[in-house]
Amino acid sequence: MTVAASNLGFPRIGLARELKKALEGYWAGRSTAEDLQKDALSLRKRHWLIMKEAGIHFIPSNDFSLYDHILDAAELFGVIPKRYQEITDPLSRYFAMARGLQDAAVGIDLQALEMTKWFDTNYHYIVPELERQQTFTLSPEKILREIEEARALGLEVRPVIPGPVTFLKLSKWAGSQETGDSTLKLLTALLPCYRQLLGLLEQQGVSWIQLDEPCLTLDLDELERAAYRQAFAFLSGDQARPRIVLTTYFGGLGDNLALALESGFEALHLDLVRAPEQLDSVLKEIGSKMILSLGVVDGRNIWRTDLDRAHRLIRRAVTQLGTDRVIIAPSCALLHSPVDLSRETSLDPIIRSWLAFSTQKLHEIKALADAATENFPQNEFFVEARHAVATRARSPLTCRPEVQTRLRELTPAMLQREPFVVRNRQQKQRLGLPLLPTTTIGSFPQTGDVRGARAAWRAGRMSEADYQEFLEKETQNCVARQEQLGLDVLVHGEFERNDMVEYFGEQMEGFAFTENGWVQSYGSRCVKPPVLYGDVRRTGPMTVAWSRYAQSLTTRPMKGMLTGPVTILQWSFVRDDQPRSATCMQLALALRDELVDLEAAGIPIIQVDEPAVREGLPLRRGERSAYLQWAVDAFRLATSGVRCETQIHTHMCYAQFGDILEAIAAMDADVISIETSRSHMELLQDFGHFQYPNEVGPGVYDIHSPRVPTQEEMEELLQRAAEVLPVARLWVNPDCGLKTRGWPEVEAALARMVAAAKRTRERLTETSGYRRQDDSSQPLSQNAST
Ligand code: GLN
Ligand code: ZN
Repeated sequence: MTVAASNLGFPRIGLARELKKALEGYWAGRSTAEDLQKDALSLRKRHWLIMKEAGIHFIPSNDFSLYDHILDAAELFGVIPKRYQEITDPLSRYFAMARGLQDAAVGIDLQALEMTKWFDTNYHYIVPELERQQTFTLSPEKILREIEEARALGLEVRPVIPGPVTFLKLSKWAGSQETGDSTLKLLTALLPCYRQLLGLLEQQGVSWIQLDEPCLTLDLDELERAAYRQAFAFLSGDQARPRIVLTTYFGGLGDNLALALESGFEALHLDLVRAPEQLDSVLKEIGSKMILSLGVVDGRNIWRTDLDRAHRLIRRAVTQLGTDRVIIAPSCALLHSPVDLSRETSLDPIIRSWLAFSTQKLHEIKALADAATENFPQNEFFVEARHAVATRARSPLTCRPEVQTRLRELTPAMLQREPFVVRNRQQKQRLGLPLLPTTTIGSFPQTGDVRGARAAWRAGRMSEADYQEFLEKETQNCVARQEQLGLDVLVHGEFERNDMVEYFGEQMEGFAFTENGWVQSYGSRCVKPPVLYGDVRRTGPMTVAWSRYAQSLTTRPMKGMLTGPVTILQWSFVRDDQPRSATCMQLALALRDELVDLEAAGIPIIQVDEPAVREGLPLRRGERSAYLQWAVDAFRLATSGVRCETQIHTHMCYAQFGDILEAIAAMDADVISIETSRSHMELLQDFGHFQYPNEVGPGVYDIHSPRVPTQEEMEELLQRAAEVLPVARLWVNPDCGLKTRGWPEVEAALARMVAAAKRTRERLTETSGYRRQDDSSQPLSQNAST
């Protein structure tokens, strides 16, 4: 008897990002809908054949998507908000929901549906919008079509379908209907559609489906558990249907284990990479029927699997359950892994031998399934993998004793600056800034010229000297324009940077870079995270030359610009052979040295961007405080090596972080700039209620849109900010970096922003006699009441 190998989902984007190109060609009108569908079909076929050739028995379908699988599920159940329904062409309507649609000719101006992060990954899904009286209708065409396509290749597939509870939990109420009650209210209305779908699939002769319920790994309240019980009872019932593997991932089942085991479904998938410890309790409780799918190959990272370790878990299950009740699988869909390592020809061959991308992971799964009945697998595949894992463990490439020594010798004093009030006084004296100082978040437009020059230099078509000169000119221009605009604190513009993580990774030991290690972020957008494989060490100053140069061009204060330790960690493929916290502290030490060097070079203000702090927050509440503790420590370690008079800024965006304000305050940056303009400063309310102790720059305009806001709008936002936070502690800035924008709109918007700040400044000093030097000033609202 053999154990079956399975996959839960293959990356859609394609080996050479074919899907990206097909989509962008279609959106730009360069190709037709038929071209797009043809390209998409050939990708699906290619991926199915890769899985077949790897010997995968359970091959997924409906994991492919033209944009996003949750948007597909919304279509599947007819969750199409009214405003899109006038678009008759289904493909145009689909993309209108995904990306918005503007067509002045026919008077259409539709915004996209909201997009948000898929659990704690860097993938973003489209948030379905539900009406209070939502009705659901089944549109199974996509699922049925893909089954047929696979059959044309001689393959039987296992369709992937987001489960009903997860689907509703990830959706939101449309517009103003948000009142805090759960979307699970609609479960009873939705379930018949699932049943209908199961019936249809049964008729089509589909023998298995994969029902994804990742929300089973979250903290659930009683209402949510009841919803699960209701859904399971309804779907597992006596109807003729395909068999179902209830699929959980991104964590352990924990206190939801009984719920999952009582589902009445035929199989249960466990994430044994994130939560290997759950196997024991599952084996204890599982009973005599259910099949276990063991997610032992990491779907979210790029390391070669320690096959022996995985094999030991598998043996425990097989010994108890027998071969026909065990399936081998990746921990989650391979959506989060790049496609194929064999394309990486310029990686260090030793480092390369430690890695496995999606295609390689399939072979690991198959090898583990084949060896499931053996006690000590000695085949070539195992021997080679064992060797790779062993060399990685003792490689001088990963281990730098001096870094480890430094880490061991950390003292609490290294995380501690003087109190904010002391620093603030010195900084005010040194900087002499006006009330409501104006600044930007760092980057200025990365124009075609800038990207073109970088590409030419990388390809060797532009000399080092010419590139340097080009960047100097860009920086000069940027500084001059900021002076003309009348900004108070300037930045150099970040023209030398491709990306806020890669730029630093490239200058530190411990990082490697792939050529094609792309992972989908959303729609056609992909990211190529660096591989953080070893102890991190800065080999020399990384940003000092550019900051010093920029400061030499102006008498106004220049802000140095760094990416924080948590963000670098969060946006890389991180080594799994030591705790993430240890890796983060190494990054913090390297950055600490950089801050000290910037200070010595005369840079008075240094911003350490941490946009990713919120997204690193563990899914389970019980794990959060430990994470926040080390994340805060890392930031403090990075920023506490400088003197009082050096002002530390940080910047956060991309998330609601109202729920981690305490930790943000504990980071103790002198100034934090935040994204608030889109939410009309809702976040600011949180800052106000919490009484955020240091200075705050609420973003007064949304840089994610080319629209130039009016001066009045920004004054209005500033006024609101002044009502909840002490005026003497407010800054004025856009809500994020300007790199994706064009110069004309940036100059227009910043001119109005500076004017708004001046006007508000005048008004406040006239009416209330505010001066920036007043530490004790209260928010306007409190002043008014006294
Ligand atoms: N300093 C960075 C920039 O301006 C910050 C980017 C970000 O917040 N993601 O581009
Ligand atoms: Zn930002």
